[in-house]
Amino acid sequence: MTDQNVTKVLLDESEMPRRWYNLVADLPSPPPPVLHPGTLAPVGPDDLAPLFPMALIEQEVTDARYVDIPEDVLDVYRLWRPSPLYRARRLERALGTPAKIYYKYEGVSPAGSHKPNTAVPQAYYNAAAGIRRLTTETGAGQWGTALSFAAAQFGLECEVWQVRASYDQKPYRKIMIETFGGVIHPSPSPLTAAGRAVLERDPASPGSLGIAISEAVEVAAQHADTNYALGSVLNHVLLHQTVIGEEALLQFAKIGVTPDVIVGCTGGGSNFGGLTFPFLREKLAGNLDVTIRAVEPASCPSLTKGVYAYDFGDTAGMTPLMKMHTLGHDFIPDPIHAGGLRYHGMSPLISHVYALGLIEAVAIAQSECFAAGVRFARAEGIVPAPEPTHALAACIDEALRCKESGEPKVILTALCGHGHLDLAAYGAYLAGEMTDHAPTDAQLAAAIANLPSVPA
Ligand SMILES: *Cc1c(COP(=O)(O)O)cnc(C)c1O
Repeated sequence: MTDQNVTKVLLDESEMPRRWYNLVADLPSPPPPVLHPGTLAPVGPDDLAPLFPMALIEQEVTDARYVDIPEDVLDVYRLWRPSPLYRARRLERALGTPAKIYYKYEGVSPAGSHKPNTAVPQAYYNAAAGIRRLTTETGAGQWGTALSFAAAQFGLECEVWQVRASYDQKPYRKIMIETFGGVIHPSPSPLTAAGRAVLERDPASPGSLGIAISEAVEVAAQHADTNYALGSVLNHVLLHQTVIGEEALLQFAKIGVTPDVIVGCTGGGSNFGGLTFPFLREKLAGNLDVTIRAVEPASCPSLTKGVYAYDFGDTAGMTPLMKMHTLGHDFIPDPIHAGGLRYHGMSPLISHVYALGLIEAVAIAQSECFAAGVRFARAEGIVPAPEPTHALAACIDEALRCKESGEPKVILTALCGHGHLDLAAYGAYLAGEMTDHAPTDAQLAAAIANLPSVPA
């Protein structure tokens, strides 16, 4: 097979990666430690034990380069992995670009996104530790769907707090979560102290991922048989997602192609990290000269407009402090349609890699992203989730620059989910009802003013 005739590059099940890759092992310096919010000392395993099983806590802090994927996890991965790598020939033609555009398609999973890549191992390790129930938050509903599916695979209960704005916009996610056996609540909810506090201030609160995390963490912390699972941001989540990039490296090797530019959308950073970290390993080893670009929504621009500082992961301030690019833990973004990108912070590992100058970042407004999504759908036949339309908009920008310069660059992105349950957002776009929001400097300054103070 060569890149001359390829439309999609498939791997055999036997070629599936059997290890996750940990970028920390290859970085020139480790990311700053996570701190206890009370003592400001680095957190130890015991601080995290009320929420996570020890296997995941170890993965969170390990500096081992590779972690073996358990057989039982590989067994579930085989339902949809290896995922296809496509060449977007029809989009290239529509753009009239000499660039070659490839996309790794994660919409083939049970949830329709990359999220089960980590939901499955998280459910596996919790079940192995004797946990009975998992709690979590969800934005667009992708993570709640993925965790409900994964929990069912290992006989766990799953309780999901969904950001109110998305709960109202996307009723089919609720039905899907319930079909997999999960229980779902809109957040803020009256079921938790964190939720009640927000509702008292603002009974019509659209919610945020930060608030929903507070609710799920509160319930997990109060019950010994219940743990919490996070779908993004943390090191172990990005670790599990590296199956995406490892497969893509093998797929490119099959056709003798190497990418010049990789773009990915960033909410908390997990699909982006999962796609790019194996390529970053090759770049750091001097095997690959590649530009890596994160794309975030203009309405929630944590990398391009946030500060790199210690902050809470949730709104109520219950989580440990993580050094990350953040808009402030009480920043509530406008309810854009890409619910999965509405998070105030960025993965500490991605923030660190960004501070080291190893990746670039851009922010794009949602109407440009939906225009790219529609263009992609008409050419390639897949309706993308709203989140990866951000990456597609940046892909198209790059491909159009190639058209001007005549450079036949190879561009890679993750099409990290399909948009079949996000059609209302496409409806709004097609009806001309989509508006763009960007926080004002005053709003950004106000949210950052409430960062916890941590001596340098
Ligand atoms: C959750 C989600 C995102 C955002 O999360 P990341 O951790 O940044 O990947 C992006 N796209 C899709 C399809 C999602 O489900």
